[in-house]
Amino acid sequence: MVKYALITTGGTIAMKKNAAGKAVPALEGTELLGVLPPSHQGEWEVIHFSNQASSNMTPDRMLQLSQILKEVLGQGQFEGVVVTHGTDTLEETAFFLSLTVPTAIPVVLTAAQRDASETDSDGPRNLHNAMRIVKSPGVRGRGVLVSLHSQIHAAREVRKLHTSQPDAFSSGAAGIVGYVDGDEVFWLRRSLPAIRIPLPERLANVPIVKAYTGMNPAFVEYLLGQGAEALVIEAFGRGNLPPDLVSTIAKAVSVQGIPIVITSRCPFGRTAPLYGYPGGGADLERAGAWFSGDLSSEKTRLFLALTLGLDTPKPTLKAWLEHGGLEA
Ligand code: ASP
Repeated sequence: MVKYALITTGGTIAMKKNAAGKAVPALEGTELLGVLPPSHQGEWEVIHFSNQASSNMTPDRMLQLSQILKEVLGQGQFEGVVVTHGTDTLEETAFFLSLTVPTAIPVVLTAAQRDASETDSDGPRNLHNAMRIVKSPGVRGRGVLVSLHSQIHAAREVRKLHTSQPDAFSSGAAGIVGYVDGDEVFWLRRSLPAIRIPLPERLANVPIVKAYTGMNPAFVEYLLGQGAEALVIEAFGRGNLPPDLVSTIAKAVSVQGIPIVITSRCPFGRTAPLYGYPGGGADLERAGAWFSGDLSSEKTRLFLALTLGLDTPKPTLKAWLEHGGLEA
């Protein structure tokens, strides 16, 4: 009897090499179910969302996936859902789903770094583990999870840190929430309680720009003139920028009313308005910029796209971001 859903979106986990030796989409969901013994395959219903590389994922597609996931969970039939995805943007989709699909039912995203033509691909093991996780005791109520390389991550913290290694994903100092050992799943901590956001009718347009030495403020001004409803600036270290950008930020905030949110080029750690020199975080805060705790640029951008789309009051939004999207 069907108890679990496998939603397939694509990614290397469903790719094989073509005649030119390049990985391209190849496997459909029913073929992916081949990781299970035949006697267990009937427990899973395959729901095809797409079979594309995750570079095709957009916030609007995430919104559609979120709607589908809500419908699937709303049927009351499924005890758990696995979503296959490309590794490249996995953390974005996982975070989007974690904010917008409040459910105690386990949802686990998984992927692969090595395509299905490789005799030692990590895909089958990762998928089988994700299936073990959704069936494991104690899995309910842990939020949207990501699993690769036998590790289990919470959607808010996880990041892809390596282009090719199977152990590419890390949650930094927050650590993994659990791991798979053989057939068993072991839990180490609970996911942190993230803000829940209803799905908006539309997503706000929020670009990201990365700071670099000698950065020309004209580039930021250009983006602000292109209909940006907020701008994420991935700044240096604790949240500092070249001093030339300060007046551009002040103008964007006070004249154009566009939120400017500071994140860090460092993969882990919190931003803070700590430094008082020109372009330092305190200077940016004086200019009206916000800081988004330890949330990555990509996740900060999605958080803004969702919440600005709901017309969330700006002081609420600022406070949520300072807590890195966690409940205060
Ligand atoms: N390299 C990618 C992957 O690991 C391709 C993608 O993200 O779809 O799946």
